[in-house]
Amino acid sequence: MTSPQHHDIVVVGAGIAGASIASELLERGQAVCIVDSAPHPASACSSHAYAIAHPHVGRGAPRLLRLTHIAFLMAEARWGKTWKRHGIFQPNKGDKAFRRDDVTSYLKSLNLDEGIAQALYADEAAQLCGINQDGIWLPRGASLNLSEATRDALKPHPKLTCCWNTSVARLEKVNVGWKLLGRQDETIMTAGKVIIAAALETKNLAASIDVRLPLRPVRGQLSIFSVAAKNSWAAKLPRTAISGDGYCLPVKQLPDGNYQWIVGSSFDEGESDPQEWDSSDDFNREQAKGLLNYPEGDINQLQKAGSFVGIRCVAGDRLPIIGVLTQRPGIFLATALGSRGVLWSALAAKLISAQVLEDDFALLARLGFAADLVAALAPARFFAGALVAAPALGALASNSKPILPSAPKAR
Ligand SMILES: Cc1cc2nc3c(=O)[nH]c(=O)nc-3n(C[C@H](O)[C@H](O)[C@H](O)COP(=O)(O)OP(=O)(O)OC[C@H]3O[C@@H](n4cnc5c(N)ncnc54)[C@H](O)[C@@H]3O)c2cc1C
Repeated sequence: MTSPQHHDIVVVGAGIAGASIASELLERGQAVCIVDSAPHPASACSSHAYAIAHPHVGRGAPRLLRLTHIAFLMAEARWGKTWKRHGIFQPNKGDKAFRRDDVTSYLKSLNLDEGIAQALYADEAAQLCGINQDGIWLPRGASLNLSEATRDALKPHPKLTCCWNTSVARLEKVNVGWKLLGRQDETIMTAGKVIIAAALETKNLAASIDVRLPLRPVRGQLSIFSVAAKNSWAAKLPRTAISGDGYCLPVKQLPDGNYQWIVGSSFDEGESDPQEWDSSDDFNREQAKGLLNYPEGDINQLQKAGSFVGIRCVAGDRLPIIGVLTQRPGIFLATALGSRGVLWSALAAKLISAQVLEDDFALLARLGFAADLVAALAPARFFAGALVAAPALGALASNSKPILPSAPKAR
């Protein structure tokens, strides 16, 4: 009997998480095998073409703020040349007082200088980015086509092996490391180290080696609206992206003179239905009114022209799960990217590669990974005794819904 093929490093899942990690390892001279049940990369949530990226600037757990700042810089380094840097405006919530100087001091306390985040009154924002609302302007905010980025990361490379249409059902410990088995319990291959980046399916793969992960689906639908040039919305449509209760991209004028405007997203906890829902488009129409602060807008004039539906994977505490699975040596996890696939995949690429290649502490620290941040992302935070290493962030740290800038103590 011939022994199964062996690879030193195998990545399960060719979404943006797995692809970014594989690409980083290739850049570091490693041979990588990537396995996916689909016939091509970016078949699932990472088929998303309109993902935005910006550091988190709302009030919240300090660790989340530090993490998204580091992750944003990593994402910028990875995709800055290819993503669309249109800037992102984060409006102040209507019911909250807004004092620019207080918000500016707050941003400074987060080490976010003016080049990355600027508090603006509505008249200043109108002049700078065309949004007539108080809020925070993030000039380096951008959007990334996750599908293109995933495919680009996995373009042919002499040290990259891709195994498509290959579904991994379970893992088993063997002498050489780990055995990957398929749905018929056939051996697919063996690996020295396995990085599981299979979104929700990571839960089943981890369960096959007796590790329970608190992962759940959150369905999301983004709407592509067509807006007639003469309609009352046309003059209101933004030339920058807005991120608040939902988000939208800068409007695009089509050759026929009408506008295409992308608004998202619904946030359907516990749902995993990939079909389009009319109710999600209606939800997005309502969000559109909120984002533009246009309560009198007639939502019937936002005609549906298309949509994107994806199933996000989120962890119980809404932070991603990125790191070595210490109780199963040789297994690494990169999952629960929630609604921050751009940021967390860039961070996962650096952190997982550093752990797989056993970089020393100094190198990790140079990347910005203080021990408490690594612990906050580590799978170990869910297991007994972990609370000491990583105090629960859950109540404050949303991985999915932005926590809006609330006004500092009011006038
Ligand atoms: C509506 C919506 C809006 C969003 N907006 C944004 C945004 O603005 N900004 C942002 O940063 N993020 C956004 N996101 C989130 C982003 O899309 C995800 O975080 C990201 O795509 C997740 O990537 P992933 O690689 O973890 O998972 P996936 O892309 O789902 O990849 C998992 C891969 O694993 C493979 N797989 C699964 N099981 C197995 C198995 N058993 N064997 C082999 N292969 C397997 C799958 O085929 C798939 O290719 C949004 C998501 C949605 C739904």
